[in-house]
Amino acid sequence: MSPPLPSTSGTYAIILGNAARQTVTVGRLGELPLRIGYYLYVGSAFGPGGLRARLAHHLSISRRPHWHIDYLRRVAEPAAIWFQQHSSKEEHRWAQALARGRSVENACPDFGASDCACTSHLFFSGGLPEVATFRRRLRALGVPGGACARALTSETSETTKGVRCSVLV
Ligand SMILES: [Zn+2]
Repeated sequence: MSPPLPSTSGTYAIILGNAARQTVTVGRLGELPLRIGYYLYVGSAFGPGGLRARLAHHLSISRRPHWHIDYLRRVAEPAAIWFQQHSSKEEHRWAQALARGRSVENACPDFGASDCACTSHLFFSGGLPEVATFRRRLRALGVPGGACARALTSETSETTKGVRCSVLV
């Protein structure tokens, strides 16, 4: 059995649940009023420690926020993680796939997308989004499957620090 969070490179979405109406200041982006529901953030991990290191960062709270998501993480709790292991950078197509969801909308222009053409890398959904639906949308966009396709399916999920982690293949 593979560990739930591999140290290889890949793309991920971390889903944070926000339980109360509140406003968070997100660095230079300024104030972001939050609705009750789920915020989905898309990123990719190509640094040392790969997905495991990056997601461990997102699961804990940063004392010195660096990325936009670090500010949001201070007030919202991780509900789920979706990830895919691969060597190509797919985070922008993941953002595209999320933007096409009927129940998902852009949450804040430029959030996590300061240096790419995407409108945003942060999305909002009133209910917890389904990984199977998202996976179908990725396939429709032609995003290649993950490196662990033989061993795991999207049904495979494990819990890390109480957060359900699903591998997309
Ligand atoms: Zn992008």
